[in-house]
Formats: sequence, structure tokens, C-alpha cells
Amino acid sequence: MKAVSFDPRHGDRDGTSLIIIALGANLPSRFGDPAQTLLAARAAMDESGLRVVAESRIWLTAPVPLSDQPWYHNAVVAVETGLAPLAILERLQEIEYDFGRVRTSRNAPRLLDLDLVAYDDVIVDRPALIVPHPRMHERAFVLRPMAEIAPDWRHPVSGLTMDQMIAALPDDQQASPAGEAGERHAG
Ligand code: AMP
Repeated sequence: MKAVSFDPRHGDRDGTSLIIIALGANLPSRFGDPAQTLLAARAAMDESGLRVVAESRIWLTAPVPLSDQPWYHNAVVAVETGLAPLAILERLQEIEYDFGRVRTSRNAPRLLDLDLVAYDDVIVDRPALIVPHPRMHERAFVLRPMAEIAPDWRHPVSGLTMDQMIAALPDDQQASPAGEAGERHAG
């Protein structure tokens, strides 16, 4: 891992940074089914200073690791904000808790999961925050929707393109846009 190239406590660099956030849900919440939860989360982000400027389709994806919990609905958005990476993470965690998420084990079902996936080519390696997200490159549920809105992004640590990371995904990670094949898996 290269050295931190940007102080994550301070504000963004030029106001046009590519900031990518991944959303996931696989249980009903007070907002409705997981797809409705994602739409509500998107609105909550707008209201908390994370202005959504691009969004993927909603994807239906198998749990990773594969288990008998319900399939996930996932999406990826790009936001504009003056907030620095650590402040963005705090906003995301506030929204998760507001949506009623209860933390149990790492891969337990959840009402809403929000991850800061990427912030331009910034590298952060801190106890509370790693950017790019340390598992983004091995997750179809992040890469496939992200490729819809940020196809030219390149991983600042590995140097890999979106296409290269998608090509390297294991075969067993099923993901398809909701409404196409796989809708029957919605839990
Ligand atoms: P999870 O339960 O998978 O949502 O993980 C949440 C934990 O991961 C929190 O304690 C965060 O501090 C930490 N974390 C590290 N890097 C990131 C990131 N890029 N996005 C979201 N959470 C992160």
C-alpha cells in the first residue's frame, strides 16, 4: 500500500472529485423493501451534504460469501461534496444507524450498508477508514454497478481498470440488474 496521498480529515481537492458510494440492503426496513430502502438512502445522502450526481441501476446480487440469507439489492452512486473522506464516512454511518441497522457479525443481514468505495485516486489507510474500500475489487456487487457510472476509474493501488477488475472476478458471484434475470431471488 502506498503512503496516504491526501489528508482524509480535510476538504475535497477541487470540488469536482469522483466520490463513489456503494449501497446495499437485503432486509425490509421501515421504508419498505430493499429497493425502496436504497431510494430512501439516496435521498438521505442528498439531505446530509452528499449530493448525488450519478447513480447506477439497482442490481440484485447473491450474498458474499454465498449463504441462505436473502439476495441483496445494490447500487452505486457518485456524490459531490465538500466533505473529506473521514467526514463522509461519518455521514454514511449516521444514515446507516438512522435506518435502523444493528451491527452483529460482519456478514450478517443488514437493513442498509453504505461504503465509501473510492475518492478519485486518493489512498487512505487508517484504522477507521481504508480508501479505496479494501474489498471493492473483489465484489461484483460493487464493480458491476460502478462500471455503469465510473467506467474510466482506475484503482490507484493496483493500477487496474474497471474492466480488468471485473474480468478477474470469481465466476460464482451472481449479479444482474433488478427487473432482469434473478428478480425471483429478491428476499
Ligand atoms: P461494515 O460492517 O462492512 O459496513 O464495515 C464497517 C467498518 O468498516 C467501520 O468500522 C468502518 O470504520 C470500516 N471501514 C473502513 N474503510 C471503510 C470504507 N471505505 N467504507 C466504509 N467503512 C469502512
